[in-house]
Amino acid sequence: MESNKYTNGCNRIVRDTCVKIDLSAMAGNIKNIKEMAGESVDVMAVIKADGYGHGSCSIAPALMEHGASYLGVATLSEALELRNTYSDYPIFILGHTPDRLLDLVVEKNITQTVFSLAQAEKLSEIAKKSGRSAKIHIKVDTGFHRLGTESVDEIVNICSLPNLDVEGIFSHLALAGDRENQLQYEKFTKIISQAESRGCSFRYKHIADSIACVDYPQYHMNMVRPGALLYGLKGYHKGSIDVRQALSFVSRISQIHDIPEGEGAGYDFIWKAPQDTRIATIPFGYADGYPRNMNKGGYVTIRGVKCPVIGIICMDQCMVDLTGLPDAEEGDLVIIYGDGSNNTMSIDEAAKIAQTNKNEIVSRISARPPRVYINI
Ligand SMILES: *Cc1c(COP(=O)(O)O)cnc(C)c1O
Repeated sequence: MESNKYTNGCNRIVRDTCVKIDLSAMAGNIKNIKEMAGESVDVMAVIKADGYGHGSCSIAPALMEHGASYLGVATLSEALELRNTYSDYPIFILGHTPDRLLDLVVEKNITQTVFSLAQAEKLSEIAKKSGRSAKIHIKVDTGFHRLGTESVDEIVNICSLPNLDVEGIFSHLALAGDRENQLQYEKFTKIISQAESRGCSFRYKHIADSIACVDYPQYHMNMVRPGALLYGLKGYHKGSIDVRQALSFVSRISQIHDIPEGEGAGYDFIWKAPQDTRIATIPFGYADGYPRNMNKGGYVTIRGVKCPVIGIICMDQCMVDLTGLPDAEEGDLVIIYGDGSNNTMSIDEAAKIAQTNKNEIVSRISARPPRVYINI
């Protein structure tokens, strides 16, 4: 176990509820992604939202050493956290950075998404003052209507600014359907060629996230931006790739109670014992990022047996039904999310039960449960 920001300055695991990250799974996943992408395509590993809950600083080396050549994050705050740990890794901010903070982007040598001339001028001006060059990728709006410009004039003007290294150009697919994707891609390539014919040049061109990476190899261009895939979360439909879920979420039983038939347990006594029932209290709750609506259909796995969550999930604890597991003991290992084998709930199944997607299930796991890195 390595000491990290989740270990509270202590090199012991200070809680029974913790998140285990298999770094060899992460390394294998990025290797396979890089192999799929091929020699001529760079992989930007998307580790925003603290590496989808996996701990961005702790997973970055495994990714950079096994195939990634860029690290993508959503915000300046995330970029700075990585930069404080890694002075040399190329770091890219996929989102907007407010003008008042652009000096930090330049000072810390971080590559910034730019979608307007005004923003580019500001960066150029800051870079000029400090005798540097600011690295940017221009974001093109091809239909998602989140961030990006559609104006070739604006792109050409950005390219002509001093002290600005326009390293790349990119867009993002809405994944609304094959036809919609194709239209977005064509709009993107048309804008690129118009800009190139007017003197712009871009080292990196990219539009593919995890799903596009696997399902639409024709959109790889010369860089891909997988997030979910790195963690072994499979959202694709047509293609396939060998990736393995890296995260599991575990705990241990704090206490066991025998509840007589008809008696309630937990807030509001929402649950009442339908018969004499043994229940276990487990020290994880919604403040650890476990969805509150898991009380409908949610379960944990103890000694290979599925134990349904009962009653209302509390902030720090929840209760499960031990019917079918008469020999369970306090201190027993509890699998909250596993890989789906041995009756455990995979991230995929958790997303279905909580009526959300896999990325939300992992990225919402809060900072409170310590991260434990295995197979380093
Ligand atoms: C989050 C994000 C990605 C990665 O998305 P996944 O679906 O997890 O692969 C890629 N590009 C952009 C712009 C993003 O915001």
